[in-house]
Amino acid sequence: MAYTNSSMVAYTRLSPNHSGQRTHSIDRITPHCVVGQLSAESICGCFTSPSRQASCNYGIGTDGKVSLCVEEKNRSWCSSSNANDQRAVTIECASDKIEPYAINSKVYDSLIKLCTDICRRNGKKKLLWLGDRNKTLNYTPKSDEMVLTVHRWFANKSCPGDWLYARLGDLATKVTAALSTGTGASADKAASQLYRVRKTWADSKSQKGAFSVLANAKKCADSNKGYSVFDGNGKKVYPADAPGTKKSVDVIAREVIRGDWGNGDKRKQKLTAAGYDYSAVQKRVNELLR
Ligand SMILES: [Zn+2]
Repeated sequence: MAYTNSSMVAYTRLSPNHSGQRTHSIDRITPHCVVGQLSAESICGCFTSPSRQASCNYGIGTDGKVSLCVEEKNRSWCSSSNANDQRAVTIECASDKIEPYAINSKVYDSLIKLCTDICRRNGKKKLLWLGDRNKTLNYTPKSDEMVLTVHRWFANKSCPGDWLYARLGDLATKVTAALSTGTGASADKAASQLYRVRKTWADSKSQKGAFSVLANAKKCADSNKGYSVFDGNGKKVYPADAPGTKKSVDVIAREVIRGDWGNGDKRKQKLTAAGYDYSAVQKRVNELLR
């Protein structure tokens, strides 16, 4: 699987502190507490100097913003363990400076979303928290499993702090739930591009399926009487409305201007096929654009 970076990243400042490309595929996530309520930018700033000899893949600032310090494909220097960091995506989270190094709800929400996104892009359907060092380090994850590890297992440190350590089971549960229901940053984006087959847009319970390919959605609608295809914005795209339920020339003209009906000959064909008077629509378009 090709390595990618999260689309949640809002700020990138790459650190020179890493070992180059990983020698092990990603099957672990190691969340850390950065010990300070830092911004996403400041977390990157911690790792720009080579003398620091440390880094992380991602930072989550105190407002929940995500930064990229070391690309996911590369091994960061984060968890005091070569074996762990070769296979783990490491995340430094803005936290309090003292025990239990609490992280706020914005950071925690971002952590859930970022972990979900990392799992999804790396082909994982489950995030596991086994809660025990030896059990975890001796566990061989299945191909669709991601495992949580913690810095304190590899060094005499409190990291990720007792606050987050106590919530890793909750984190794993929430991420696994999000993976099964298809939420999270990349899913939101992908979902908005799907064609849905429903009775009406508002009746989401009637949904027969969601398709990335329009032709497949049309096929599904054809085999289910009374069903239509809607795009991610809820616009009905198939079948064309029967005569009598047609929209006004003005409404169609505004759709044309918005680009819903394509351009040139294609626009003409589509409008005509849907039962509209092309020249009347075009006349209204010209009026609106005057
Ligand atoms: Zn740490």
